[in-house]
Amino acid sequence: MRRYDYKKVVMCNDSQSGLRAIIAIHSTHLGPATGGLRMWPYATDEEAIFDALRLSRGMTYKYAAAGVNLGGGKAVIIGDPKKDKSEALLRAFGRFVDQLGGEYITGEDVGTTLADMEMIFTETNHVVTLPKHCGGAGDISPATALGAVVATKACAKHVWGTDSLKGRTIALQGLGAVGHNALRLLAEDGAKLIVADIDQQKVDHAIAKYGVKAVDPKDIYKQDVDIFAPYALGAVINDETLPQLKAKVVAGAANNILAEERHGDELERRGIVYAVDYVANSGGTIFDTDRLRKGGFQEERAWANVRKIYERTEEVFRLAERDHIPYYAAADRLAEERIAALKSVRLLEPARLPH
Ligand code: NAD
Repeated sequence: MRRYDYKKVVMCNDSQSGLRAIIAIHSTHLGPATGGLRMWPYATDEEAIFDALRLSRGMTYKYAAAGVNLGGGKAVIIGDPKKDKSEALLRAFGRFVDQLGGEYITGEDVGTTLADMEMIFTETNHVVTLPKHCGGAGDISPATALGAVVATKACAKHVWGTDSLKGRTIALQGLGAVGHNALRLLAEDGAKLIVADIDQQKVDHAIAKYGVKAVDPKDIYKQDVDIFAPYALGAVINDETLPQLKAKVVAGAANNILAEERHGDELERRGIVYAVDYVANSGGTIFDTDRLRKGGFQEERAWANVRKIYERTEEVFRLAERDHIPYYAAADRLAEERIAALKSVRLLEPARLPH
């Protein structure tokens, strides 16, 4: 906790419902610690604690770099979401969140759903991801897609001097919730797309609707294209895929695109421009957390802030050039500089901030 300056870790036990959970609060410098609730059958308590710690710190950087005034937090429930989830367990978790008085705000993550959030919401107001009928933003994948596409356009401007994607060739990996929305936006902008997905139905739909070319998932990296767009899995930039890449830009919505930081250094060495994942894919988060801002959820404001990912991506490029560091390190620095600049001017304690 000392090494990375964590604020608080709460161990939760409710014997009656079987709840065992950990709430990790990394930082509240920019606002209440916010981040999703993961439910996973962790083998040991230690594994669960480390996951909560790692993920909560990631949220601090994500919000800070995205220009969102929230701190980083994350919660995990130890258990199998398919077998161990119950109303009693979720509500017990909600009461633990409530006891923190707004210092931590929870949301959806791996193993939890919008319906689970609605259940937790019966016990506490400190829930960010909610269905529309509870005052939430609903499905956030279109916002994630828009953010990733404007980040792609900022990369195009950086490399080719124009952010129009007309005539640019793009290899798009993954046609899921975010990928199919991105496909539509990229096609509308005039890009020529080559797609891959392990789900043939999604591929067939993309071909029928947009007239795109499709390739076998294992061949997507080596396509002779301007842009490689990962919208499926993490760790897709690795020792095996890097030598195959012909693209000048890597930009998409997938989380943890670099297998390791050294792969980011290698992109740099090869002159490939990279839209840092947690900046490029922050659109959903920006959209989702808009309901915590003044006046509650305002769709127009939320979309406008998602579009600002364009400028944030440019800021990362400027910082990288200024300090002669790779893009991934520049994004971290952008977040750290924002926290350092703002933490001294925040007068209210998070628990007293209006929600
Ligand atoms: P999803 O599960 O809806 O879609 C993923 C798609 O990738 C599926 O269609 C799947 O068949 C495909 N896929 C899986 N393995 C593949 C492979 N080897 N090759 C090609 N395609 C493959 O997920 P999503 O919500 O669209 O998220 C996509 C990525 O974006 C994930 O990395 C996720 O963490 C990240 N992300 C999503 C959001 C969001 O708002 N949903 C926000 C931030 C980041």
